[in-house]
Amino acid sequence: MSVDSNRLDTLLKENRRFAPPEAFRAQANFNDPGIYERAAADPEAYWAEQAGNLSWFTPWDKVLEWNPPHAKWFVGGKLNAAYNAVDRHRQGPRKNKAAIIWEGEPGDSKVYTYDMLGREVDKAAHMLKSLGVKKGDRVTVYLPMIPELPITLLACAKIGAIHSVVFGGFAANSLRDRILDADSRILITADAGWRRGSLVPLKKNADEAVEGTSVDTIVVVPRVGEKAGVQLVEGRDHDWNALMAQQPATPFEAEPMDAEDILFLLYTSGTTGKPKGIVHTTGGYLVGANTSLRSVFDIKDEDVYFCTADIGWVTGHTYIVYGPLSAGATVVMYEGAPDFPDRDRFWDIVEKYGVTIFYTAPTSIRTFMKWGPQYVEKHNLSTLRLLGTVGEPINPEAWMWFHVHVGKEQCPIVDTWWQTETGCAMIAPLPGITETKPGSATRPVPGILVDVVDEQGNSVEPGNGGYLVIKKPWPSMLRTVWGDDERFRNTYFGKFEGIYLPGDGAHLDEDNYIWILGRIDDVINVSGHRIGTMEVESALVAHPSVAEAAVIGRSHDVKGQAITAFVTVKEGIEANDALVAELKQHVATAIGAMARPEEIIFTAELPKTRSAKIMRRLLRDIAEGRVLGDTTTLADPSVVEQLKTLYKD
Ligand code: ATP
Ligand code: MG
Repeated sequence: MSVDSNRLDTLLKENRRFAPPEAFRAQANFNDPGIYERAAADPEAYWAEQAGNLSWFTPWDKVLEWNPPHAKWFVGGKLNAAYNAVDRHRQGPRKNKAAIIWEGEPGDSKVYTYDMLGREVDKAAHMLKSLGVKKGDRVTVYLPMIPELPITLLACAKIGAIHSVVFGGFAANSLRDRILDADSRILITADAGWRRGSLVPLKKNADEAVEGTSVDTIVVVPRVGEKAGVQLVEGRDHDWNALMAQQPATPFEAEPMDAEDILFLLYTSGTTGKPKGIVHTTGGYLVGANTSLRSVFDIKDEDVYFCTADIGWVTGHTYIVYGPLSAGATVVMYEGAPDFPDRDRFWDIVEKYGVTIFYTAPTSIRTFMKWGPQYVEKHNLSTLRLLGTVGEPINPEAWMWFHVHVGKEQCPIVDTWWQTETGCAMIAPLPGITETKPGSATRPVPGILVDVVDEQGNSVEPGNGGYLVIKKPWPSMLRTVWGDDERFRNTYFGKFEGIYLPGDGAHLDEDNYIWILGRIDDVINVSGHRIGTMEVESALVAHPSVAEAAVIGRSHDVKGQAITAFVTVKEGIEANDALVAELKQHVATAIGAMARPEEIIFTAELPKTRSAKIMRRLLRDIAEGRVLGDTTTLADPSVVEQLKTLYKD
């Protein structure tokens, strides 16, 4: 990996600046710039202060115990995540406030107040207990985005069982791998789910997946009903509704969990290889999730908060379930596709429920750009006050599009860099304090010590690139990789002693702002010039014809590596040889001749993981004619087949 990847001309030419609007600053939860210094001076004191926003059954004796690479936070403290997310709000003025506003893809909807949600969670906890689930057991959850999903997670948390959510888009094999790895004996699923008006056969996949595993109990939520045509296996399968109807209406006593007891396992997206079972514990994770809702998302009681992620990913865990609910917020949860029945579905939801905070992924924004602004313009989005992005580096042009067309130039944007492993946002603006620059996640949030270092682990000077690292432990950090502490040590702490290595490259600019360059492995070396894939992609996306681009380095006899760009064009644009020449020249002008792509390949789709991240690793394999590595996390395997034929032509 390059440590002098200082060729960020396109990104660094990005000199637009956006200060927080005065009205936003004045009302923000965090608006004293001194918070950064105070937190840096004593991070443990800062986190202890934030932890005071949760309800603890027993206070902690010690904030942090750090035996690198193993951290324990809030040692001796006892709490329960479901109690914090639901029960405590039932005892005060939020009792009858909307906790979850849910909308199904076919258009059905339900609202759960905190009190109603609490009663469902209690019933579900009674149900799980009646099925023999105990503290520490792993419960695998394979559900669509329906209310039973957060209800199941909270019921597990209430008992102290460890949930392991497997995204509903995964096929039987991927589900089986995760069941085996977590060693679960119970699976919660649905008969089927809705996606673009078609059925996703969850129960059918589940039947296939559990063969040869230790699962002996399956609970099936009847989301679709008769149409799904599923059979319940006598003695193994149970109907969710039938079981729920048998449960007592009495409160379920929340298990007092040690702060370091495991709350959940979650497998990473698998962008770079085989997914890892990331372990998160109760106290630290919840402190991180809750704090970032108040700091980065400026959550208020009046807000209607809509995060478009699926709960099958960490973004949904932290920013649909544990973060907003522990903060007593109103959360919008949507079941289906953004283009069903039409391409304005998200904007329809924003208008209908008066969404104030909207959090989505750069890949979605690039799709909206490809479709054109007319779908946004059909709706009144004037309730929006804050926007956020996560998942990949955001190209400055996508940032600007989001800012202009969705935020109407009124809403701060928080570009949040984080990972399954970090539990919550690590690098992100505080929207009432931090001036933003399109394409930069700006600076670490208070209490997080991020740096950019060279090969030896020395901090780089501003104006240089290197390895992104986190130098001190933080409450919501992963504790280990499930069943593989060795992999945990090697992957994250193997390069620099006692320092966390996320695996991303970054550039530090003259104002100490951080620009994520992408995965360390994705940096390209052309004739000795180090070029970030992100840099070339952003130059391409800035061209008016381009919707999306993925850039890789292919081995080349003369240059070492040559740049190959896979490009999707906007609707109505003709992809021809003239455009190839124009795009090559465009990149050369924007960055320099050494970044001129050797080849440009037009494709209707890019290979993405099911969490919608571009899999450059696969593109490299295709370009270099290798046998493809792990493709189980691909959203649409046919994309790879199409690309292979394109490449041969
Ligand atoms: P695996 O670790 O199995 O390869 P993954 O890294 O894709 O999968 P996630 O934890 O879902 O799994 O993704 C985290 C990664 O997403 C980060 O390491 C980073 O590369 C990217 N990322 C997330 N948010 C941002 C952001 N705001 N800016 C730039 N990159 C981001
Ligand atoms: Mg990762």
